[in-house]
Amino acid sequence: MPAFPAAAALATRDATLRANLRHATRTIREKRARAVAELGDWPELRAAGKAIKDHTLRHLDHYLLRLERAVTAAGGTVHWAADADEANRIVTRLVRATGEREVVKVKSMATQEIGLNEALAAAGITAYETDLAELIVQLGDDRPSHILVPAIHRNRAEIREIFAERMSEWGRPAPEGLTDRPADLAEAARLHLRETFLRARVAVSGANFMVAETGTLVVVESEGNGRMCLTLPDTLISVVGIEKVVPTWRDLEVFLQLLPRSSTAERMNPYTSLWTGTTAGDGPSAFHLVLLDNGRTTALADQTGRQVLRCIRCSACLNVCPVYERAGGHAYGSVYPGPIGAVLTPQLRGTTSPLDASLPFASTLCGACYDVCPVAIDIPEVLVHLRERVVRQRGHRLERAAMAAATYVLDRPALLAAAERAAARTRRLHLRRLPGPGRAWTDTRDLPQPPAEPFRDWWRRNRG
Ligand code: SF4
Repeated sequence: MPAFPAAAALATRDATLRANLRHATRTIREKRARAVAELGDWPELRAAGKAIKDHTLRHLDHYLLRLERAVTAAGGTVHWAADADEANRIVTRLVRATGEREVVKVKSMATQEIGLNEALAAAGITAYETDLAELIVQLGDDRPSHILVPAIHRNRAEIREIFAERMSEWGRPAPEGLTDRPADLAEAARLHLRETFLRARVAVSGANFMVAETGTLVVVESEGNGRMCLTLPDTLISVVGIEKVVPTWRDLEVFLQLLPRSSTAERMNPYTSLWTGTTAGDGPSAFHLVLLDNGRTTALADQTGRQVLRCIRCSACLNVCPVYERAGGHAYGSVYPGPIGAVLTPQLRGTTSPLDASLPFASTLCGACYDVCPVAIDIPEVLVHLRERVVRQRGHRLERAAMAAATYVLDRPALLAAAERAAARTRRLHLRRLPGPGRAWTDTRDLPQPPAEPFRDWWRRNRG
């Protein structure tokens, strides 16, 4: 992937993409604003969400061990994965042990983050996405461009075409004469997926939350595909980031109010699935929880950056971001696009690649993301913090040389006085615009003219 400015420049030339994004983000953000305005205690809920997450992150080791004990006591098995490779190896081994060659998947950012589908495919195992938008992305050989609506960049006509052309390669074909009416498209997906649900013996999921006190995992969704995956197969493997733990059910109550209104603008999401270990004769008989670090403890060690681990992936910040609305999600080169991607990805992956180093600059710092964030992540603060890190790491050769020269002169008062006098005498020759790489800076700024007389000379003449 190229760095963000190059990818965004390409994306903004696509008029269809811009129209799709404008329509979708405006609709969602207006609905969200109405849903949030219904609650008189939204600021208090937001403060509670922030406080619970901060407390949990401060004692993360304690709550993770408590969660592990509870999951194990309920009949589940916990695996710890330090990075993407380890998580992929664990899941592949678990699927192979069942003897199955295919899995159904509930929409999961964590498994996209680690590239699980590709790792399974390399081991000869097919992963079927069952969320409608993820299905569109998978059938279209595409990449997700939004956290909640991964196919937000596609319109109805494009989706109809993808279904008609590609569904047959993955199972039941699209009905003859499929139209682009939303109901017809949903019905085609339902018929296609139903056969996969009934066949699959292994499911892979993520989780929105994990309750430490009982070892309960929670998935919230809108289509019911999650419920099918979580209940029908014999084996369930959940890959979850370690920051998703909350201490108690009482804490969960806060997030089950914050998340639906912030994400889909609903008072309550249609399906909330909760499970605790295994239960004989009810749901999967084997449950594995893979706890994923993959850069999270590095983020946790950063006093300013750790607040991004509060994120509940609602995507409200994407829908209000003027940069996301124009550039779309693909330009961020990560499964986490938009403002949260600009602060999360560089912390998970580091800032050594040109793409990751460019992400903290993919923002106007307008602050709209902070205003809507249900857990009050100060994204602009983290962006500035990460920009400092990138500049410190990389430094610009010219900037470094200029700073070294300034340090040398400012350390020597006689030299500084001589330089000021020389500048005053040659002030008419001073450039209004800088040449070369400095031009971009002076395109939008006036280079100040040196004064006719240095202040120290004026002082000596008048007061000396
Ligand atoms: S940063 Fe805040 S607004 Fe953005 S996805 Fe995360 S929780 Fe939602």
